[in-house]
Amino acid sequence: MDIYTRTLAPRFSKLLAKREGELRSILHATGDFAVQAPEAQAREVLDFKDMAVEETQSVVDEAKADHALEELEQVVAARKRLTEQTYGECLDCGEPIDLRRLMAMPATPFCTACQGIHEHGRGVGARRPTLHLGKGKSS
Ligand SMILES: [Zn+2]
Repeated sequence: MDIYTRTLAPRFSKLLAKREGELRSILHATGDFAVQAPEAQAREVLDFKDMAVEETQSVVDEAKADHALEELEQVVAARKRLTEQTYGECLDCGEPIDLRRLMAMPATPFCTACQGIHEHGRGVGARRPTLHLGKGKSS
């Protein structure tokens, strides 16, 4: 597979900056979110998240803003990794992330395998109880 190399940094920097702009405009459209400096953003958005839940007028907007906030946190973190030159490595296993995956989701902090584990753990999009059934156990 192709992997990220530092020569691609300007390209991904541009991709992430563009995405950050899009997400900020979504947040502006769905609520009165102050735009903070990138360093402060990751922490600020968590507070805004709580506020958003309390002051919600539209469920759709809430879900949209919630999603955008989550992604914005990822984008901000990814841009930080880009400057720290750790971008392109999975935060969990440290393996290089497939370049095609990065192109599709520049902010992703995990490789495909680890992402699967995370989505399972968090139960994104579905409220299914997590079952821990050991393989080979009949009970
Ligand atoms: Zn991984």
